Amino acid sequence: MRYISTRGEAPALGFEDVLLTGLASDGGLYVPESLPHFSLEEIRSWRGLSYSELAFNVMYPFVDDAIPAEDFRTMLDETYGVFAHQAVAPLVQLDTNEWVLELFHGPTLAFKDFALQLLGRLLDYVLEKRKQHVVIMGATSGDTGSAAIEGCRRCEHVDIFILHPHQRVSEVQRRQMTTVQGDNIHNIAVKGNFDDCQRMVKESFGDQSFLGGKTQLAAVNSINWARIMAQIVYYFQASLALGGPDRSMAFSVPTGNFGDIFAGYLAKKMGLPISQLVIATNRNDILHRFMSGNKYEQHQLEHTLSPSMDIMVSSNFERLLFDLHGRDGAAVKKLLENAAKGPVSIEDYRWRHARKLFDSDAVDDKTTCDTIREIYERNEYLLDPHTAIGVRAARTCRRDPAVPMITLGTAHPAKFPDAIAESGLSVKPQLPAHMADLFEREERYTVLDNDVAGVQAFIAKHWKNA
Ligand SMILES: *Cc1c(COP(=O)(O)O)cnc(C)c1O
Repeated sequence: MRYISTRGEAPALGFEDVLLTGLASDGGLYVPESLPHFSLEEIRSWRGLSYSELAFNVMYPFVDDAIPAEDFRTMLDETYGVFAHQAVAPLVQLDTNEWVLELFHGPTLAFKDFALQLLGRLLDYVLEKRKQHVVIMGATSGDTGSAAIEGCRRCEHVDIFILHPHQRVSEVQRRQMTTVQGDNIHNIAVKGNFDDCQRMVKESFGDQSFLGGKTQLAAVNSINWARIMAQIVYYFQASLALGGPDRSMAFSVPTGNFGDIFAGYLAKKMGLPISQLVIATNRNDILHRFMSGNKYEQHQLEHTLSPSMDIMVSSNFERLLFDLHGRDGAAVKKLLENAAKGPVSIEDYRWRHARKLFDSDAVDDKTTCDTIREIYERNEYLLDPHTAIGVRAARTCRRDPAVPMITLGTAHPAKFPDAIAESGLSVKPQLPAHMADLFEREERYTVLDNDVAGVQAFIAKHWKNA
C-alpha cells in the first residue's frame, strides 16, 4: 500500500516511512492511495471473530508490504490482550436502538489506547528491523501523553519524553503518566502552560541539532496515519454486533482533531453500511460551524469541561477536505493557505455532498452536565463529559429511529470527576479495580524551567544511548 500527501507535492511513501513520518514534507497529511473494499458477504463472514482477529482482517491490507501476516497477528493479540474487558469494546444500551460503544477499557481509560497501544508495537517492530532508534517528544494537556507513554513503555528502540504544564493537569491524568515505570519513559513538568510545552516541541522538531545526529525525533500525534488506521476497526466491530452489515448504522463521535470520526468515514468507504456520522463538538465548534453553514473559520480557544476536545482547528479535517475536492492536492493547499488568513467556504455542491453523511452539533458545558445527570437518573449509567456530548448530539441529530445510533464512549467517567461533580450528582465515579491503587503508586517526573535550551539539554542527556 502506498500513501500520498493531501497537498499533492510530497513523494508517495510506503507504510514504514509513513509510520515514522509525521507531517508530509509539503505540509500535508498522508492518506492511502486507494482503500481496500470489502463485500457485504466478506464482512458478514467476520461475525463472531474476536476483536484481534477482526482487527487483522480490517487492517492487514494497509500494512501487508511491511509486516508478515503472522507477526501482525501476534502484535494485535498482544495489543488488545491488555484491555481489561474481554470484548475489548463492549456495547451498552441506553434506550431503544441507542447505544454507547465503550472504548475506555484500555490501560489509560480512554479510546486513544486503541491506537497508541498498537503504535508503540509497530514502531518497535519497524525500528528493530531497520536497526534504528527514535526519541518521541510530545506535549500533552492530559489524555494523549498518558496513552503514548503506556503504548511505548515496552519499546526497546524508543525513548519517550512527554512535556506537561506543571501543576496544570488533573491529578488522575498526571499520575497516569508519572507512575509508569520504565527506563525509556521521561516525564517533564514545565513551569509554564500547555502552549509553552507545544512551542518547545515544535521548535525542537524544527532544529534537531541538540541530539547531535545520534538519534532523531518522532511524533505520535493524532495526524499519524497508523492511529487512524487502528480506529477503523471498532466501527466494524460495533456494526457486526448489532446486525451489520445487513442493516446500516449511525455513529455519533465526540470530536476534536477529527481523527476518530475520520476513521468512521473510512469504514464506510471500505464497505461498511453507515448512513450517518454525527460530529459532536463542545464550544470549540469550528467543525459544527462548517457543517451547518459552510464556513470554516478559526475562533479563540475556549476551555471546557471536555478538555480533550479543546481545539481551534481540527488537523485531520484536511483528510476529508482532500476527498471532498476529488483528491486534488493543489486545491486543498490553496484552501488551507486561505483558511490561515480568514474564513473560507467550499463549493456548495461539495459541501452538500459532505452533508449527505455528516451532521453536527455543538454542546456547551451546561448541556453536557444536564446530559450526564439525565442519563444517570434514567439509566444509572455514568457518562464522562466527552461521551455525554456525543450522546446529546446523537439525540439532536438523529435522522431515523429504525437505524441503531451508536455513540463512541471515548473516556471513563473516573478520568473527569470534576464534570461529574459539576453536574450535581453526589455519586463519585470509581476507578476500575486494575487502577484502584493509582494514588498510592510512586511518581517520577522532573520539573524544568520554561526554557527550550534546558529541556533539550535534558533530553540530550537522558535518552538511552546518550
Ligand atoms: C482525544 C479525545 C477526543 C477527540 O478525538 P479526536 O480524534 O481528536 O477527534 C474525544 N474524547 C476523548 C476522551 C479524547 O481523549
